[in-house]
Amino acid sequence: MKSNFEEIITQIPKIGDEMYQLMIELFPICRSITGNGLRKTLKILSKHIPLEIHEVPTGTKVFDWTIPREWNINDAYIKNSKGEKIVDFKKSNLHVLNYSVPVNKKISLKELKSHLFTLPEHPNAIPYRTSYYKEDWGFCITHNQFLHLKEDQYEIVIDSSLEDGSLTYGEYYIKGKKEDEVLFSCYPCHPSMCNDNLSGVVLLTFLAKHLGTLSLDYSYRFLFVPETIGAITWLSKNEPKVKKIKHGLVATCVGDPGISSYKKSRQGNAIIDQVAINVLKNSGNNYKITDFVPIGSDERQYCSPGFNLPIGSLQRTIAPDFPEYHTSADDANFVQGKYLADTFSKYLSIIYILENNKKYVNLNPKCEPHLAKTGFYRMIGGARKLMINELAILWILNYSDGKHSLLDISDISGIKFEQIKKAADALVNCNLLKERSIND
Ligand code: ZN
Repeated sequence: MKSNFEEIITQIPKIGDEMYQLMIELFPICRSITGNGLRKTLKILSKHIPLEIHEVPTGTKVFDWTIPREWNINDAYIKNSKGEKIVDFKKSNLHVLNYSVPVNKKISLKELKSHLFTLPEHPNAIPYRTSYYKEDWGFCITHNQFLHLKEDQYEIVIDSSLEDGSLTYGEYYIKGKKEDEVLFSCYPCHPSMCNDNLSGVVLLTFLAKHLGTLSLDYSYRFLFVPETIGAITWLSKNEPKVKKIKHGLVATCVGDPGISSYKKSRQGNAIIDQVAINVLKNSGNNYKITDFVPIGSDERQYCSPGFNLPIGSLQRTIAPDFPEYHTSADDANFVQGKYLADTFSKYLSIIYILENNKKYVNLNPKCEPHLAKTGFYRMIGGARKLMINELAILWILNYSDGKHSLLDISDISGIKFEQIKKAADALVNCNLLKERSIND
């Protein structure tokens, strides 16, 4: 049985808890842009949504890039000369420079220090570092631990492999009535960190799960692609589908306590920009709007000049503006279910507007219709009972010239889209308004 938006809205607090639980389940897995951690993550997501899993072999050309060798890791540690493990990958997978080549040797403190990464400005946090395209090895530790390291012979073990394999990504397509698509993209390639970007992964999983229960106009595509190389891979392999993408969002950093922030598409005035800004303005919360900049996440690829897709990014605190960013402090205390739920509700509002943002024509455009005479109030069964905003009626009748959409009318009037939509439905039911057809 098909659900509707109102039913999903009533479930949002519960969905917030479920997203949080899924995040906790995914947190311990050591992910990277390739490898078994990424596969395991996508397999867990497949319990919630029917993900299609793609494997793209090492060496495949994707535009100017090449799919790298696959990286996997079993264990890693540093032992002092007493045989004590002073750094242990099994305690935090951030301890290893992601994509480290295998190592097994004894070295001096001096040599060890040249392979250590710390964050002096956050002395208790383990930094997250990667070396995907340059062969290297290293460990990431807290700066406080670094300061206490003594002269010694250290045993270094990184039990990893870097071999021909493939890059894995997940995709879920929900077919709507029309071919035009809305794209949602996130990246499940970071190891144990929550806001960046398990928050985006669980948000899109649950959004997809619930959209799958609706009868939809647009088709929806959800991508779970490793950051940068995964988005490039998808675009490279799916160029003919790109023209169907009419709106889209990159979901990252959606579960922290900060205010919602919307980063506009490169186009800057796309419908998705108008919709996202409308939702934030009417949310009753503080918010921030920023222009597109070619730094950030996969919007860099979707909005590269050869594609220039209408894709923005609705986040909370935009990375790297939170001190926990790319450190062990980006954990399950920093991200909370209530913030995930709040962002979920905003994504859902955006979809609701996209699905319902039609243009209408006032069938009685010369002066205002005599509403009492048309039986409008009688037919809608009492405006107050149905919570029809009477002001919205005047705005719709005036601006339904076939040119202004319901979203335009919401923007001009300052009345929430949901109220505009409800009033428009009532006017249509009384034959005072009709949807503009493509011939009008
Ligand atoms: Zn990141």
